[in-house]
Amino acid sequence: MAEDTQSTQVAVVGGGPGGYAAAFMAADLGLDVTLIDPEENPGGVCLYRGCIPSKALLHVSRLLSEAEEAKDWGVTFGKPEIDVDKMREWKNGVVGKLTGGLGQLAKARKVKHIRGMATFRDGKSVEITTHDDKKQTLSFENAILATGSYPTRIPKLWLDSERMLDSSSALDIESVPKSLLVVGGGYIGLELGSVYATLGSKVTVVEMTPTLLPGADRDLVSVLQKRLKGLFESILLKTTVTEMKEQKNGIKVTFEGDDVEKDTAIFDKVLMAVGRKPNSDKLGLENTNVELDDKGFVKVNEKRQTAEPTIFAIGDIAGEPMLAHKASHEGRVAAEIIAGKNVVYDPRAIPAVVFTDPEVAWCGLMEQEAKDEGREVKTAKFPWAASGRATTIGRNDGVTKIVIDAETDRVLGLGITGPNAGELIAEGVLAIEMGANAHDIGLTIHPHPTLSETIMGAADLIYGQATDYYRRQRK
Ligand code: NAD
Repeated sequence: MAEDTQSTQVAVVGGGPGGYAAAFMAADLGLDVTLIDPEENPGGVCLYRGCIPSKALLHVSRLLSEAEEAKDWGVTFGKPEIDVDKMREWKNGVVGKLTGGLGQLAKARKVKHIRGMATFRDGKSVEITTHDDKKQTLSFENAILATGSYPTRIPKLWLDSERMLDSSSALDIESVPKSLLVVGGGYIGLELGSVYATLGSKVTVVEMTPTLLPGADRDLVSVLQKRLKGLFESILLKTTVTEMKEQKNGIKVTFEGDDVEKDTAIFDKVLMAVGRKPNSDKLGLENTNVELDDKGFVKVNEKRQTAEPTIFAIGDIAGEPMLAHKASHEGRVAAEIIAGKNVVYDPRAIPAVVFTDPEVAWCGLMEQEAKDEGREVKTAKFPWAASGRATTIGRNDGVTKIVIDAETDRVLGLGITGPNAGELIAEGVLAIEMGANAHDIGLTIHPHPTLSETIMGAADLIYGQATDYYRRQRK
């Protein structure tokens, strides 16, 4: 039987926030586009098993925490009744709405969607195994690789057991375990650990480095860490898991490290969240000139072009940071380049947000990174204890930190820890992209009373002139 062969101008492999943004942009620019992805609709890990479902669950968490805090505000709710099936249904409904919407947007733009998995035959064509197990060949003028990443497992620890969770299965909240061990104190461990803790699990986080969220600014993390100490059963830093064994009553875990009081403990479930790896190994890239680095990321230039001139790569597969919004931006740039525009991928700031409570968000160069680069910087921290709005929501523990170039006063970085930090950080990204200095932010009238005033406050504080907070000027 002859193989089904088709052709397209742009083949986009992978339908996550990178892939669908690229496909939609290419179609908007008049190109004929085919998107290859195994799911029924575009969305990728972010919509089906990542950002969106986790945020839906974190919204429930925040509500539970606020209901608890409301006691101090004169409102006492009864003990919450948690129906995990209903919660899962709601979360799946959120995912369905968004992915369904993307499916309609793809159709409206006449983006052809082939449900399946692609492998490259060469720099001009892919072979696709469709979801109903048929083979077809698609030839293209250009391809955009947007296959994302997968959760890393530590093979010597991973057990083939229903008690083991990864970031995907943890989102299904099959049950609320009495005790949960989270291995890895990064984005996923802290976000999902927070969900389970507010639902009632006793959560222990084990992190091998000396701090939660290694790499993030210490002044930002310390605020979160303090609050998580109250939410979690324990946080074990500079600690690793050396052994896990399943037994009748749970998983017996052996620890090694500085904070360990008891070197073994039994947990109902274990969530492993120790990072992600690029999906670059099963794509037939060896049949092309595409090159990988030693971590498996596809090597790209500033146009997101690989060593095979017809093939572009974007998103998690093209390197850190592995964030959906970075992927979307790269995808749009790659599509524009394919359409003949003279653009490059050159962001000055990529925001990062950890959606815990409080949220931690930052962009640009924070203090340590700037110092590591040998730059002279000035910093100011505006404490939320001095913010009227933070006080009205009972959250004086937040902080807004600004980092500026000591010579030019240009904003290099902004970091915020507190509720809604993820929304607030966009101002910092714009300031950095537009080359604003601290005066520009201080001279911008911010609405009162809002948390956004803390950004203006931090900028004013650089000059020792914040209205709501006094800091003696440094001589
Ligand atoms: P991560 O890199 O954020 O954190 C992994 C953590 O595990 C690190 O702190 C690391 O030191 C620790 N670790 C590694 N091996 C360990 C071991 N053997 N024992 C104990 N600790 C160990 O990775 P993640 O949380 O799995 O998230 C993966 C990626 O997904 C991130 O890079 C992030 O870009 C992305 N993500 C983003 C968001 C968001 O934007 N809000 C949310 C979730 C995930």
